[in-house]
Amino acid sequence: MAKYTGHYIDGRRCVGQGRRTSTVFNPATGEHTGLVPLASGSDVHRAVASATAAFAIWSEITPLRRARILNKFLRLLEERAERLAALISAEHGKVLADAMGEVQRGIEVVEFATGAPQLLKGEFTESVGTRVDSHSVRQPIGVVAGITPFNFPAMVPMWMFPVALACGNCFILKPSERVPSAAILLAEWLTEAGLPPGVFNVVQGDKQAVDALLVHPDVAAVSFVGSTPIARYVYETAARFGKRCQALGGAKNHMIVMPDADLDQVADALMGAAYGAAGERCMAASVVVPIGEHTANELIARMAPRVHALRIGPATDPDAEMGPLITKQHLERVCAYIESGVTQGANLLVDGRGFKMQGHEGGYFIGGSLFDQVEPNMTIYREEIFGPVLCVVRAESFEAAASLINRSEFGNGTAIFTRDGKAAREFAHRIRVGMVGVNVAIPVPMAFHSFGGWKASLFGGHHIHGPEGVRFYTQLKTITTRWPTDIRLDVNFAMPTFH
Ligand code: NAD
Repeated sequence: MAKYTGHYIDGRRCVGQGRRTSTVFNPATGEHTGLVPLASGSDVHRAVASATAAFAIWSEITPLRRARILNKFLRLLEERAERLAALISAEHGKVLADAMGEVQRGIEVVEFATGAPQLLKGEFTESVGTRVDSHSVRQPIGVVAGITPFNFPAMVPMWMFPVALACGNCFILKPSERVPSAAILLAEWLTEAGLPPGVFNVVQGDKQAVDALLVHPDVAAVSFVGSTPIARYVYETAARFGKRCQALGGAKNHMIVMPDADLDQVADALMGAAYGAAGERCMAASVVVPIGEHTANELIARMAPRVHALRIGPATDPDAEMGPLITKQHLERVCAYIESGVTQGANLLVDGRGFKMQGHEGGYFIGGSLFDQVEPNMTIYREEIFGPVLCVVRAESFEAAASLINRSEFGNGTAIFTRDGKAAREFAHRIRVGMVGVNVAIPVPMAFHSFGGWKASLFGGHHIHGPEGVRFYTQLKTITTRWPTDIRLDVNFAMPTFH
């Protein structure tokens, strides 16, 4: 029987008033497994009203007590990580080890957020003027919303809400309608950890729910993670309605392979980075740029047989390296990209389209694909495929490769594989990308650093989680203090200065 996943408002699950619903599928079988309500404007209004009322209480609770609740939540997460991962795998299709990795990355942000008293320490300057002191504090901004993509049902929400809550805000999460269940489990565990009702709410939905959040006058800030066109739309709309916004978009991540790199190591790293999670990661390495013909030929000789031999299967298969894609439509889209690559003249060395998963014929499985001789004007180079398709773009020199990356519309992640410290330093310094790896294929920053790309991969002034997250979810106030003394001050109509 299909499972019904509702909203979570005011500390409990609810059905909502919206009449529309969306079907949830098991990507490994193609079966309908659930139904999710799509919030109406009035459902969003209810969640915002609950969060607004809770803000009056939560923002006055000391950071230490907020941290203690997050600590309890952290313990629950650690104890129940496998349950959460299994739920993610069932709706998303990623293999269990990958889902456990995602949960672990989310846990690390909660660990960071439990440092709330330390994170929220202000600054103090004694004697900015004679017997005048100044101090700065960071205060919560109010009700904040998080709109998240399908590919990390737990980790991406956890990039946002632990930090937002630690800073004293109330949160409304609008998860992807394709993977709605993990958010509800997280909400229940937060309540169990002692979070007051209304501090964390989940509204399920689609564009209608997003739009209701974007225009609501009581939503102070919006964090978004998803595709670039929607990120741009969310950023522009939020700005129009006077909200603070960080909107993380899509990617096309390049990996440069220098002639001096250890190609066996590169092939190991590239297999996971390109084909892990079936390429449905914003940090997936989707373009590899070997420098020189010899490097390219040697790398391809190592990669092609491994792409052929990828172990593909449902999340329940412990030996599977890669699961299915998220939906039938997405499978068709990835196949269409592969076809366009062939039509536009790239050399398809491994074609994943023929793959059939025995016993799972209705699932959205596809094999790994590998293209050589990809050119920058081809659609498969320019657009984010978000599937297990790796493009090899051959370059003659480091200069040519770096300039290719700097011309890309996206700037999420990139990596260089080399033994040459000078080349690596030059790369890290000059490359116009937000997250850079040196012999690290997926350079996702740890929770106590911040995550974010450049160019069309992020709209807004703040990266997510870490110190940038604290800045995003707080507003700065600076207080200048003088206590009356026996010194008389003259009336002064000029711009005040301190001595
Ligand atoms: P998506 O943009 O389709 O959806 C993201 C969210 O926006 C969902 O909650 C969805 O319900 C909502 N949405 C969809 N269409 C909308 C519309 N027209 N108006 C308002 N809201 C809308 O993205 P997705 O397919 O769920 O996720 C994959 C994309 O996310 C990829 O492009 C990937 O690169 C990107 N992503 C980026 C990062 C990052 O950190 N930069 C991380 C993960 C995923």
